[in-house]
Amino acid sequence: MLRPVCRCSKRGAQAALKEGRGKQRPHDGMNDLPFDSDTVSPRLLVWYGQAGRDLPWRNTGDPYRIWLSEVMLQQTTVTAVIDYYQRFLEKIPTIECLAAVPLAEVIDLWAGLGYYSRARNLHAAAKLVVEQYEGCFPEEVEALQQLPGVGRSTAGAIAALAFNRRAPILDGNVRRVLCRLFALQEPPRSTSAEKQLWKWSEELTPVANVHDYTQAIMDLGALVCVPRKPVCEQCPLEELCRARKLGLEQQLPLKQVAKQIPTRHEAVLLVDHRGQYLVRRRIADGFLGGMWEFPTISFLEGEAPESKLHLLCSNLNLEGSAESIGHSQHAYSHFRLKSAIYGKKIEDLSHVAEGDHRWFSLDELKNIALHGAHKKVLAEFQKSGV
Ligand code: SF4
Repeated sequence: MLRPVCRCSKRGAQAALKEGRGKQRPHDGMNDLPFDSDTVSPRLLVWYGQAGRDLPWRNTGDPYRIWLSEVMLQQTTVTAVIDYYQRFLEKIPTIECLAAVPLAEVIDLWAGLGYYSRARNLHAAAKLVVEQYEGCFPEEVEALQQLPGVGRSTAGAIAALAFNRRAPILDGNVRRVLCRLFALQEPPRSTSAEKQLWKWSEELTPVANVHDYTQAIMDLGALVCVPRKPVCEQCPLEELCRARKLGLEQQLPLKQVAKQIPTRHEAVLLVDHRGQYLVRRRIADGFLGGMWEFPTISFLEGEAPESKLHLLCSNLNLEGSAESIGHSQHAYSHFRLKSAIYGKKIEDLSHVAEGDHRWFSLDELKNIALHGAHKKVLAEFQKSGV
């Protein structure tokens, strides 16, 4: 959808573009034009006035809404976020409400969006803003960065978009644009590349129109300088872009070398009582805190899962054997989890030690915040037809 053209910013941008072209500034010898905010920003703003996205969190200066959208957009596409964002705000419209609701409610609203640590951090940060800042977000990047789940780029985005502060950002889209614009020929997550990218981002961030510039450079990465096949002929920065000049626009950014991660093993038990399955919430302050999972027990590489499964059955006071269903695996950032899946049908509930477990139907399981590894377990179980 085309964003309505802001006449003021467009006129201002065109004037600045003319002024920028008239100035004498040093440049790097590779391009005819220098890389600086006076050269880059006016081009981006003109393009943004014509082609920027109209998104639900764009027409607000409310830091709560901007923060919520920025957190939801971490690792998640705009298309996936829109419905979640609107539903979340219908239920929890203010930061005071967010601080007051139980974490479980936030986790349930987040169900399906993934990366659930974001929901936990959101809740913790809301409490902190209410307790320490009386519900008003701090405006400085340094103070924003102290909030749980708010890194430098998210802090920069909130400062720029909610408070129009001159603050650089470096989200995935901006990182890709800068890697290509400057033809950075090293993996962009290396320490030295990271430092260099922040420096460039800071240099290109203008003093005026920070709000629109920030949205413009994010939109450029999302709409034009896309991961595969950037549409350079529609790019307002084409005449500046080093990657374009070198014919490297599809090769950059360089791929990150995948890091080695350890593998952990678990046996998972799907206890079926007439189409209802036993699940429990993980403890709130641990890994995947507040999310739902099937009963599970770890075992070591080389061990037979059955050697531990009987312990799990005995904890739940279940008698008899369980049927092997299959396997699934899921990669987290710091380990890979391999799940050996077992099923057990029961008729009599009276002896089951349910403890803090609850029963859910298959339809309900699809709508609760089951963690990623156990979503795959459930899919494998359904595929098996048991
Ligand atoms: S010219 Fe192409 S590679 Fe360079 S910034 Fe624009 S879209 Fe990206």
